[in-house]
Amino acid sequence: MTRWAVGAAAGLLLVPVLIAAATGAVVPRPVPGVGTGAVGLAAAARQAGFGGEGLRVAVAVGLAESGGDPGALGRNPPTPGCPGGSTDRGGWQLNDCYHAEIPDACAYELGCAATATYRISAAGTDWAPWTTYTSGAYLGELAAADQAIATLATPGGCALSPAADAARQLVTERFGLTDIGGCDPDFHGHIHGSDHYPDATGHAYAIDVMVAGDRALGWQVARWAAANAAVLHVKYVVFAGQVVDFRAPAPAWRPCRNPTSSCATAHFDHVHVSFFATTAHR
Ligand SMILES: [Zn+2]
Repeated sequence: MTRWAVGAAAGLLLVPVLIAAATGAVVPRPVPGVGTGAVGLAAAARQAGFGGEGLRVAVAVGLAESGGDPGALGRNPPTPGCPGGSTDRGGWQLNDCYHAEIPDACAYELGCAATATYRISAAGTDWAPWTTYTSGAYLGELAAADQAIATLATPGGCALSPAADAARQLVTERFGLTDIGGCDPDFHGHIHGSDHYPDATGHAYAIDVMVAGDRALGWQVARWAAANAAVLHVKYVVFAGQVVDFRAPAPAWRPCRNPTSSCATAHFDHVHVSFFATTAHR
């Protein structure tokens, strides 16, 4: 983007785009934990507050400006308001002359850049400062933007599936337990592919019923979940080194297969219950 002084010749609007395409160096700046590409733009934009049509345009403009590279850098020649030239920075190519109030550390970080973009675009209603918008270049990115937005988790990000949430409420009603873990939005602390991590729809399919050191209570919960597996849509239950898997032909409690696995070692203070993704499964 480059915000030209009011009254600048319309023909000049395209110059920064062409210059950026010809000479713009791309400086890779990996940002831990932030995705790149269309999905990274979409996630950052939604987090910043964009929604609906504004979100589509935000992602499409970002793609047209930077391809979704948070480290993208494009240099501009001297312009009416910036005699020393200027630099377009990051995923939304925030200009360092017209938006000197935005530090590099923000412009090259997708989350911060998205928040700045939200402000400059008046919450997604005014994209005139972006040359890829005024030129129409962003239109060619709308399909990719839609695809990226569709892969995002649902707003709110992380929620229990209906079956898991129903079981959580029943555990509280029946056993008076309220310390129950569910969806983990940080993708951290569970095994790879854990049912605690949200899928593309934003749902997680597991609960951890914390019972502290009360082994007897844990077994009550575990046996109740297993006994009601069909109605609760339980996939498997793990507690105190044992597991019952309802994907098996004849489900029964048995010791965890691998004695060093999380199944065998990490489930003494809580009962883990995983649920089938679809309530129509059983
Ligand atoms: Zn668990």
